[in-house]
Amino acid sequence: MRKILVVGAGQSGLQIALGLQSHGYEVTLMSNRTADEIRSGRVMSTQCMFHTALQHERDLQLNFWEPQAPKIEGLGVSVAAPGSFDPGPSQRAIDWVGKLDGYAQSVDQRVKMAGWMETFAQRGGQLVIHGAAVSDLDYFSRTYDLVLVAAGKGEVVSMFGRDASRSPYAEPQRALAVAYVHGLGPRPEHPEFDAVRCNLVPGVGELFVMPTLTTSGRADILFWEGIPGGPLDVFQGVKDPSEHLALTLELMEKFTPWEYARATKVELTDANGTLAGRYAPTVRKPIGRLPGGGAVLGVADVVVANDPITGQGSNSASKCAASYLASILEHGEKPFDEEWMQGTFDRYWETAQHVTKWTNAMLGVPPEHVLNLIGAAGELQPVADRFANGFNEPADFENFFYEPAKTEAYLASVAQA
Ligand SMILES: Cc1cc2nc3c(=O)[nH]c(=O)nc-3n(C[C@H](O)[C@H](O)[C@H](O)COP(=O)(O)OP(=O)(O)OC[C@H]3O[C@@H](n4cnc5c(N)ncnc54)[C@H](O)[C@@H]3O)c2cc1C
Repeated sequence: MRKILVVGAGQSGLQIALGLQSHGYEVTLMSNRTADEIRSGRVMSTQCMFHTALQHERDLQLNFWEPQAPKIEGLGVSVAAPGSFDPGPSQRAIDWVGKLDGYAQSVDQRVKMAGWMETFAQRGGQLVIHGAAVSDLDYFSRTYDLVLVAAGKGEVVSMFGRDASRSPYAEPQRALAVAYVHGLGPRPEHPEFDAVRCNLVPGVGELFVMPTLTTSGRADILFWEGIPGGPLDVFQGVKDPSEHLALTLELMEKFTPWEYARATKVELTDANGTLAGRYAPTVRKPIGRLPGGGAVLGVADVVVANDPITGQGSNSASKCAASYLASILEHGEKPFDEEWMQGTFDRYWETAQHVTKWTNAMLGVPPEHVLNLIGAAGELQPVADRFANGFNEPADFENFFYEPAKTEAYLASVAQA
């Protein structure tokens, strides 16, 4: 049977390793951390995943936490009235919630990756705890039929060249600050169902609030995305988790008081329940060439890393793993040469390009027709629902989001219906 090495035990690496394993491949998984280190370590993401990505996990029977994880049935958008927070607390200009056709879920990656890693080992997979360096890959590319690099944003990605034509931003576009909390109240507008709440504060940034399943059960995540250099870009260097939470809440009180109102009793889930950082969204060339002449294929964030403003990275990692798995299985016993690697990535890019285009658009200042669309969703429920379901299938935004004429035609058709 063919021997495949997967470097990196995140969403894509584990999903693909477990998928290959279930088809009888001889898989080695290399991780720079043990399952216990992941489980007891720092939170890594907010990892909200929508229907299609969750279905890929179900197809492999890896949806172990589906019964316990909160079902996210809606996606809501609130927009602060520009300048209303200066001075005083902000007010809402827009507030709506769209219903998702299939529910979304967030399972703390500490829970999921640790559990999946243990499953991989229990099923006879070879797990190597080692942070792979380029020199290791050089050696392994000669001993394995295929080496997949699924190392996320780890240093080893520097061996994959940046694709400037697909990477419009050279610098981070948001400063990220995450806090996992217990004790958040429901959104009073829809206490009967859970939703991801996207709160846009024009010129300042965004606050995302979403339920999750973490190491201590159900929790909620408060996630600020701040425009660099602006009033939300204050988390760098904050080491004390309580200070991080206090800052999060202070900013909520000023910029999103409607969310703060349900957060007055929150406390951190654990001392590792906060995260701060930033990175430049980057598309890379899919093939990494090694000093010894071998080639390796990049997976998920290694090749397409978008800003989390649209909550797509784990979704894309799941879709990439499913697409690569299909390409590997279809290839049978033929050699995994560079032509196959490029073709495998190109097949994934058919989906990924829509995520990158939409995410990069959301990072910029919204044009008037997009503001009209978001505003109209407050009056027209089908528009809110379609926007919400775009998070599951971003290719649909081609039909009504980017071009003013298409947006106008769509809004007119809904208004007439
Ligand atoms: C703040 C924040 C919020 C987010 N929110 C969402 C969201 O709501 N929805 C969503 O879909 N996505 C979200 N994302 C993005 C999502 O978490 C990532 O895109 C996704 O985890 C990428 O999966 P991956 O498999 O490519 O890499 P990762 O999940 O990053 O996994 C890579 C793994 O490789 C390991 N590794 C690195 N280097 C090496 C090495 N040399 N050797 C061995 N192992 C190595 C790492 O430790 C890690 O375990 C968010 C990201 C951030 C930062």
